[in-house]
Amino acid sequence: MKRLNYSQIVQLAKTAIEEDSNWGMEEIIRDINKDNSVSQTKQIRKTKIIDEQKKPVSKINQGNNKNIKDILDNLKQEVLNCKKCMLGKSRINAVFGVGDPYTNLMFVGEGPGFQEDHKGEPFVGRAGALLDKIIAAMGFSRQTVYIANIVKCHPMKNPSNPELKTNDRPPTLEEMQICKPYLDKQIEIIAPKVIVTLGSSSTKALLQTEETISSLRGNFKEYNGIKLMPTYHPAALLRNPSLKKDVWHDMQKVMAYLKNG
Ligand code: SF4
Ligand code: URA
Repeated sequence: MKRLNYSQIVQLAKTAIEEDSNWGMEEIIRDINKDNSVSQTKQIRKTKIIDEQKKPVSKINQGNNKNIKDILDNLKQEVLNCKKCMLGKSRINAVFGVGDPYTNLMFVGEGPGFQEDHKGEPFVGRAGALLDKIIAAMGFSRQTVYIANIVKCHPMKNPSNPELKTNDRPPTLEEMQICKPYLDKQIEIIAPKVIVTLGSSSTKALLQTEETISSLRGNFKEYNGIKLMPTYHPAALLRNPSLKKDVWHDMQKVMAYLKNG
């Protein structure tokens, strides 16, 4: 029993070190040396304010930026009271989204998990910590981008037990269809230059395709006139760290588009 505990601890420590050291820094450094994207990252930080001025005008308020936050807050109130699908009956908190309403860059995940349901904020678990690292490597932060999900309430295998930690499941097509108008409104209000879809659910729901995420990732598509980059979900990177370099390539394309596009 003791030996088993010891090897479990060693394994846990190994996994934690692998995950925590970086999110694939060898690959990043190799790529940085290849195409000098470190200076590109710095450049993006510097040009961020200028970029904001080039931001597409939100159709919602015809460029009157003062109202964007209020309009988004009103929509948030609507979502916090929503019971349009079954997920609304079992959730602890609806998870609307976080970040800068004036940003050029929006990430869209699948749906809240256990941690997000309890905190009311997207991507606060282990996958979220990895997403934060990806965003930081791009030269941004959780506060300077916007993060939302395709469904706003926690899809549970057993909806009668929100306190069960192993209760997460992906949203059904029907749940995504019912909730999607909220995401569409968020996108319309924020009007980012680029949407990054994280994983298969949000990619398929927005692009209305059955193609796999591995065939879709890395190539820009369009959604309602906005550039959309599909990439792997950070949870997939936790399971398979060799996918990190693909995500980094995809994010470099996003960074280049934000800078030049
Ligand atoms: Fe409403 Fe979306 Fe929550 Fe369903 S998942 S109750 S549609 S906010
Ligand atoms: N996974 C998601 O897709 N979204 C979250 O908010 C958390 C985990």
